[in-house]
Amino acid sequence: MRFSGLRVLKEGLTGNKGWQGHWRDASPKSDYDVVIIGGGGHGLSTAYYLAKEHGITNVAVLEKGYLGGGNIGRNTTIVRANYFLPGNSEFYSHSMKLWEGLAQDLNYNVMLSQRGQIGLFHNDGQRDAAIRRGNAIRNQGDDAELLSVPDLKRMLPYLDYDQSRFPIYGGLLQRRAGTARHDAVAWGLARGASERGVDLIQNCEVTGIDIENGTVKGVQTTRGAIRAGKVAVIVAGRSGQVAQMAGMRLPIESHVLQAFVTEGLKPCINHVVSFGMGHFYISQSDKGGLVFGGDLDMYASYAARGNLPIVEHVMEAGMTLMPMIGKAKVLRSWGGIMDMTPDGSPIIDKTDTRGLYIDCGWCYGGFKAVPASGNCMAHLVATDTHHEAATKFRLDRFAMGHGLMDEEGTGAQHNLH
Ligand SMILES: Cc1cc2nc3c(=O)[nH]c(=O)nc-3n(C[C@H](O)[C@H](O)[C@H](O)COP(=O)(O)OP(=O)(O)OC[C@H]3O[C@@H](n4cnc5c(N)ncnc54)[C@H](O)[C@@H]3O)c2cc1C
Repeated sequence: MRFSGLRVLKEGLTGNKGWQGHWRDASPKSDYDVVIIGGGGHGLSTAYYLAKEHGITNVAVLEKGYLGGGNIGRNTTIVRANYFLPGNSEFYSHSMKLWEGLAQDLNYNVMLSQRGQIGLFHNDGQRDAAIRRGNAIRNQGDDAELLSVPDLKRMLPYLDYDQSRFPIYGGLLQRRAGTARHDAVAWGLARGASERGVDLIQNCEVTGIDIENGTVKGVQTTRGAIRAGKVAVIVAGRSGQVAQMAGMRLPIESHVLQAFVTEGLKPCINHVVSFGMGHFYISQSDKGGLVFGGDLDMYASYAARGNLPIVEHVMEAGMTLMPMIGKAKVLRSWGGIMDMTPDGSPIIDKTDTRGLYIDCGWCYGGFKAVPASGNCMAHLVATDTHHEAATKFRLDRFAMGHGLMDEEGTGAQHNLH
């Protein structure tokens, strides 16, 4: 089923009876070339690119719940390519380029909205750091612009510029950054993988990983054993638990991250605004809700919900930055489980078990990585070599101590990222 303007018109005039399901709800076969554990954004993206770019279609994606029920459906949808360090910068640059063609590629509207993302700074030292970051981003081939206070006042007239604690000195803008509709990304990738022959199997929890003589042989699931030539673990916040099934201890802590949305309002916030010092960021969804969030809840947990101290902290930060949001009513809040690495950068690598691969450590920034992560992971699984955009996401950097990519300079502590 192809989507097009003509199709929408035809269906609209004929009672919308011709739409079909977006993917096949498959039952597990006994044997696959590749089994992907985890039907989140990264698992679905890996399946899609395995089929599309490598012709590997005897693939199953095993999801313990429903497709898109994890962090892919819980995030605040920000996409950007403004990373500073080699390793991260080329990867997110690659991801942004894939984002820009994704809707056409999938024939599915992922609602990419390149409305620009602005990171604020509040003193001279931070301005220096922003200039340096901007130069690094431009050297990478992506866009960055330094904004003065008058520039900002034109674009974001609703900010409180003279608050005593964090007066605003300027901002770093990336115009190509913005948001995309998270569910549509999951559904579009699922549809693209399924129509190429990938089996998407929901309500199928992996409970064990079968390994013989150092080689992976398959998985145990709540729907029976499945043999596999290769197994890719792509389970975000559950990475530590699933890796343990293969006897691995990952350098990952799982933490809660919350987000909030208000009632729908008329358009008032036209960009993504990040207030790093206050741990607050905000954008406005196409439905009109103000979507915002802040920092981790700061304790390790597998609960996909958070606690009140962070709610209070985020609301305070929002009120400090833009007092006008005090008039909006918060409708909902929710949480997701973040797979935090010590250096805040991800892992896309082989493991010591032959045929077992891992893609994790996305911390609170893995939505923007969905296209490139799947693209690079598929390359690794298919060819056993690293994609050129993801050569530095090595698992052994935590054991060796070199090659760490501490983007935020906060040191090797999970809950500081
Ligand atoms: C509140 C919040 C805001 C965020 N905001 C942003 C943002 O603005 N921009 C950004 O770039 N990133 C953001 N993120 C981060 C981003 O959502 C995640 O990094 C990313 O979605 C993680 O990858 P995923 O989509 O594959 O994870 P998930 O969707 O969680 O997928 C993992 C899947 O694995 C499944 N699974 C786990 N264990 C098993 C098992 N044993 N067997 C089978 N299946 C299993 C889970 O059920 C789940 O569906 C945010 C996250 C949260 C929670």
